Amino acid sequence: MHRLIALILLLPAIAFSQAENARKTVEKLCSSEFHGRGYVNGGDSIAADYIAAQFRETGCSFFNAKPFQRVNFRVNTFPDRMQLSIGGKYAVPGADFVTDPSSGGGRLDNARAVIITQQDFDSRESLKSKWGEITSSENDVVAVFDFPGYTDSTKKLARTFVETALAVCPVIELTGTKFTWSVSDEQRGKPHIIAQRSLFDLTDPSLTVSMDITAVLRKHSGRNVMAYVPAKKNSKKFIVYTAHYDHLGRMGQQTYFPGANDNASGTAMLLELARWFKQNPQDVNVAFIAFCGEEAGLLGSHEYVQHPVFPLDRISFLFNIDIMGSGEEGATVVNATKFPAQFDLLKKINDNGKYLVKIAPRGEAANSDHYFFTKAGVPAFFLYTMGPNKHYHDIYDTYSELSFAEFDDLFHLLTDFGVCVKRL
Ligand SMILES: [Zn+2]
Repeated sequence: MHRLIALILLLPAIAFSQAENARKTVEKLCSSEFHGRGYVNGGDSIAADYIAAQFRETGCSFFNAKPFQRVNFRVNTFPDRMQLSIGGKYAVPGADFVTDPSSGGGRLDNARAVIITQQDFDSRESLKSKWGEITSSENDVVAVFDFPGYTDSTKKLARTFVETALAVCPVIELTGTKFTWSVSDEQRGKPHIIAQRSLFDLTDPSLTVSMDITAVLRKHSGRNVMAYVPAKKNSKKFIVYTAHYDHLGRMGQQTYFPGANDNASGTAMLLELARWFKQNPQDVNVAFIAFCGEEAGLLGSHEYVQHPVFPLDRISFLFNIDIMGSGEEGATVVNATKFPAQFDLLKKINDNGKYLVKIAPRGEAANSDHYFFTKAGVPAFFLYTMGPNKHYHDIYDTYSELSFAEFDDLFHLLTDFGVCVKRL
């Protein structure tokens, strides 16, 4: 081929930014075939296979020729029916209501809603009579707690009423704010739902509720996915980049939580880092770990720290990343105050490269997969970005909501830091 033609053919590849690659990865990881990378329909397992295949494509090496590490845990799941109607009107899962993560399952047709308001808590008589209705009849009523209408002290008291009511009948907690769903390793009592207050006519004494919810507490087997780029010459030392790839999965068969920012975006970054370091090997080994079970309580990283594939004291630095689809308002770095020299370096790199508008330091926090490494004495940062996209643990954390505004800057910040930190 003529050299000029070869060069022209090469140009689009050069212009291809990390963000463009990442968009494809995130869109894929957020598609319905990945089921929200959780515990229904094998979503997290499909994601694990996909990430391993991507690592393989980068040409990275695997430890003992295997990309996976098993992690077994218990999890409460909602694999099938997820129906709720109020006064005969169908409520939309995820948009109008979510289950409490430790909700039980059950079915109920046209049960009377016993709504407990602030006025009831104000009047001993009224509370006594409604509480009597709730505790005396099984399966005929649903206890509805109007949390937005409660004073702060009532809210505390109402918590204990919710717990007691769950032993005898389904409970609906009303809310006026957005849902933030999560995962639980236990199942408690009857169906437990958080619903938007606007769905309820609080003045209607004959309001009825129907529901049909499948909840299954089960043993789950997740997989951490790992790869690395060997040092140019033999080295025992490692720089490690980590990101969790799991999310909340499905809540019933119709609804799933795509987890675009949290943390398909960080997973995409991890793959871009692997691609780059494979092309640019360092004096030390560079490892990449995509953790499972983060949303269920940092379970993948906990398992890894208990059973590391190379000794933890060989890690010069570990960088955990989350929420890479934003960054317009900068980023926060957990453990910044614990590792001031490394944080200085990160800030200098950021200033020199004019990458993010700000990097805010934060102390220690048990809020992601760096945590058990830090406890084990491994120097580590956890970086997450801030921006106008506030979707978090809800059905709106979708691919199309991500700006990727700072993705390339973040990529350069992370690679520059990885190259420099080993010299500290
Ligand atoms: Zn999360």
